[in-house]
Amino acid sequence: MIYPWQQTQWSLWLAQFERLGHAYLLTGTNGLGLTEFAQQMAQSLFCQSHTACGQCAGCHQFLEHTHVDFFQLDVLEGKKEVGVEQIRQLTQKLMQTSHQGGYKVAVLPEVERLNTSAFNALLKTLEEPPEKTLLILTSYQLERLPATIVSRCQQLAFNAPSMQDSQAWLLTQTNNEMDGARGKRALRLNWGAPLAALDWLNNQAWLQDEAWQTDIHDLVTQRKTPSDCASAWLKWPNPEAVFDQFYLLSVSAIRQALYQQQGVKTQWFGFQQQVLQAKRDWLGNANKELLLESLCLLYLALQSETSSPLPNIFSDSRIRGRC
Ligand SMILES: [Zn+2]
Repeated sequence: MIYPWQQTQWSLWLAQFERLGHAYLLTGTNGLGLTEFAQQMAQSLFCQSHTACGQCAGCHQFLEHTHVDFFQLDVLEGKKEVGVEQIRQLTQKLMQTSHQGGYKVAVLPEVERLNTSAFNALLKTLEEPPEKTLLILTSYQLERLPATIVSRCQQLAFNAPSMQDSQAWLLTQTNNEMDGARGKRALRLNWGAPLAALDWLNNQAWLQDEAWQTDIHDLVTQRKTPSDCASAWLKWPNPEAVFDQFYLLSVSAIRQALYQQQGVKTQWFGFQQQVLQAKRDWLGNANKELLLESLCLLYLALQSETSSPLPNIFSDSRIRGRC
């Protein structure tokens, strides 16, 4: 399905059927529906009218998951990354003649999950693509992809819709029962991505959000240590959400200072950069407990009146681990 915020990209896609490339790379944050869009692109190639009409034989086969010329590459159960063998098998399938005489299409969601040898194998396929094949890659973290992969794809970027549009969409998805302030919070904590915000609401993640706010309060008032907080957050089903919490906290602090026409502590901007760096380290091979404790210490340092610049502790090799 095409979401309201994807209409521009959908028109762009439909407009270039005559000069189809071999590979496309869809980029944007998690929760904008990139995989669904990639699947819709695939469906339109199998569709007799190229519109993903949902009515023709090609659309039916695709929607019933029985189309023999469609492949989707996901991380295998129990694994953390896509391995080289998966790419080799996919390439072999793409080399074979299409069963229905049309295109063979492969969707590779979150392509940053490929390991190095898988990227190398994919690069070979992108350099010499088999006849009448289309590869559709998606990525939430463009900076983690090898430049050689990115340069061989046509890029299609997706942006989050406005707060107003997102809130209106969320209302339609929650039978108009969404609390306005909670909806805003859901969107802000999820970088404005409506699908991620909807998950946040459906999973009652505000309970986690409230627990985090209590932890931060207890941290500042010394009822809890950084270690207490870190071990509580590590038990979350999605501990990396802590970084989004800290980031939003810094945004709110800066906004509040601006509203009150006070000088914004320049350290807040440094803190934001460190939060983003810490999130990148987390996705690498960092010591997760140490990373969260360090973030607490940084936050505590910000609370004190010191005007000295924040130390850049996330470049410390003990925290970063051996990547
Ligand atoms: Zn159709």
